[in-house]
Amino acid sequence: MVRESIDRIGVVGAGTMGSGIAQVAATAGYDVVVRDIDTELVERGFDSIDNSLERLAGRDGLAESPATIRERIEGTTALEALADCDLVVEAALEELPVKRDIFEELETVCDPSVVLATNTSTLSITSIASDLAHPERVIGLHFMNPVPIMEGVEVVVGEKTSESTRELAHGIAEDLGKTTWESDDKPGFVTNRILMPWINEGIRAYDEGVATKDDIDAGMELGTNVPMGPLALADHIGLDICLHATETLHEELGERYRPAYLLKRKVEAGDLGKKTGSGFYEYE
Ligand code: NAD
Repeated sequence: MVRESIDRIGVVGAGTMGSGIAQVAATAGYDVVVRDIDTELVERGFDSIDNSLERLAGRDGLAESPATIRERIEGTTALEALADCDLVVEAALEELPVKRDIFEELETVCDPSVVLATNTSTLSITSIASDLAHPERVIGLHFMNPVPIMEGVEVVVGEKTSESTRELAHGIAEDLGKTTWESDDKPGFVTNRILMPWINEGIRAYDEGVATKDDIDAGMELGTNVPMGPLALADHIGLDICLHATETLHEELGERYRPAYLLKRKVEAGDLGKKTGSGFYEYE
């Protein structure tokens, strides 16, 4: 059983996804340590956890008080603080060199038996693990946004991922109250291979004047029964994340995945969606 071998979970990155993963792990009873590169970013992650726990408590969605859950989460800027974790989930920037550096550093601090998971949206698990002495313990554990609400987790199996790592990944996701499906380590996996071109085409349709942004989102919501249209969903995910994911898919799968011009321009302008208060829509 997963619970018998894991008490303490490390999370790298305290942004949208890292803070959510830390929250669900602490809610499930695990001790958690979250690492980001500076204290302010760790604090921002904690603010988002506090807000989310309060909202869930208000809807009777928690078995314990927010304070009790929150006590299980520790913040740090030191990677060495992850040394005594039994599992680490990386949720830092969607850039291959960044992730490869993080995994190389993790390999120097964590015992070889510790599974190292990445929350990457599109990057190759095999490539993230390629310079490591123990690539068999690397796997994709692709949580969805917002992590406390979304039920699904995509388990992505790399070329060298071992069977025991694969089993542990499914087991831990289920312990966190999630349901898993599995994808081979192919660009975009199942979800983003299909979702990103849909978002990208929504942005192109807006840029090319097919309709207003509200009409594009309304058309897809009301006309195809999805809960969020492509532009609202892009803001929710983060436009930088969408751009990096689409660029990876474009590089690997060719022309049909070329990122929309307007997506690049918004990211260059620093309008990344909800997390910066401005994307295709404005946020308080
Ligand atoms: P984010 O920008 O909100 O957060 C990333 C955090 O990582 C930042 O706080 C940054 O300071 C931190 N970071 C950067 N380098 C670091 C390092 N060396 N050590 C520790 N922290 C570091 O991004 P996010 O939306 O949380 O995405 C994180 C990962 O999850 C990405 O790989 C992304 O593709 C993936 N993902 C995102 C979504 C989504 O909807 N946003 C969904 C699924 C998966």
